[in-house]
Amino acid sequence: MSHRKSKKASMKPIVLIIFLVLLAVISYLGLENDFKLPGGESETPTASIYHSTQDAQGFLTPNTDSPSTDDQGSTFCAYFVDVGQGDCIFLRSPSGKTMLIDCGEYSEYEVVDNFLKEQNVSKLDVVVATHPHSDHMGGMRLIIQNYDIGTFYMPDKEHTTNAYEKMIEQLVEKDVDTVFATAGKYISWDSEVEAMILSPIEGVTYADLNSYSIAIRFEYGEMSLLAAGDAEHDAEELMLERFTPDELRSTVFKASHHGSSTSNSEEFLNAIYPDCVVIQLGANNDYGHPHEEVLDRFFELYLDIYRNDIHGTVLVEFTKHDYNVICEKNVG
Ligand SMILES: [Zn+2]
Repeated sequence: MSHRKSKKASMKPIVLIIFLVLLAVISYLGLENDFKLPGGESETPTASIYHSTQDAQGFLTPNTDSPSTDDQGSTFCAYFVDVGQGDCIFLRSPSGKTMLIDCGEYSEYEVVDNFLKEQNVSKLDVVVATHPHSDHMGGMRLIIQNYDIGTFYMPDKEHTTNAYEKMIEQLVEKDVDTVFATAGKYISWDSEVEAMILSPIEGVTYADLNSYSIAIRFEYGEMSLLAAGDAEHDAEELMLERFTPDELRSTVFKASHHGSSTSNSEEFLNAIYPDCVVIQLGANNDYGHPHEEVLDRFFELYLDIYRNDIHGTVLVEFTKHDYNVICEKNVG
């Protein structure tokens, strides 16, 4: 130390100034190129919720690798499969368990079947038919016929359509374990993902078949997903009465009833308080979905909005702390 000090002290002032300026420039460039966070990681976005729309390349392939955005373990994947005007959600748990919620119209069976084959699915641990409308369970008879099913969930509400009767016939023929879903029950699926049924409420007579829809809230670490089929305002009100906002709050929300104004009430959305919404619907559908006032509510909450008619199939990949959205169609 003493040697250095004496050397510096012997420099002429102009040489010293040039030396200090060069030192400052080198330090600045060095910091800029190699900035490290205290933990030793390179600087990355530090927002608690990281999400982005990525290119769809290869996204239909099951992701069995370690997650891209988290070091805590595997991911919980929710695919909102594009079946036109209808609902179809395929879920894969961190340990590889599978669940199918609805399957769209009968005419969309091939789309769903191809999707499941691409996912290497032969067994569905849980299948949910949210309610007996054909845009949700039209192809269910073929799903039951062609796939091994662990447990089948449906509401305790009959319907007189051919699609409904064929579905029941297949359930009986294949002797599938069938459960009537009611609020407060948990779906036993994956120990790391809590799946709680929020609706329908046992014993309630709802005004419309849509409101018998099975609503399920999934919780994985700090992340959560709520899907309520086509549940309308009366069902939403009863959920608000029965559950606290904390029990309803969800990171991602599947817009109810394809974005209809008969669902997605302001009070319900305020309780869920999501970051992101996925709307399952077909382009130029006969119902004018999504309704303008519902979109306005989503905009007011600053939600990221994904739609099957624009983005194709949408994958939401959850880690325990973040989520990432990947779309089949990359929309500029
Ligand atoms: Zn529907």
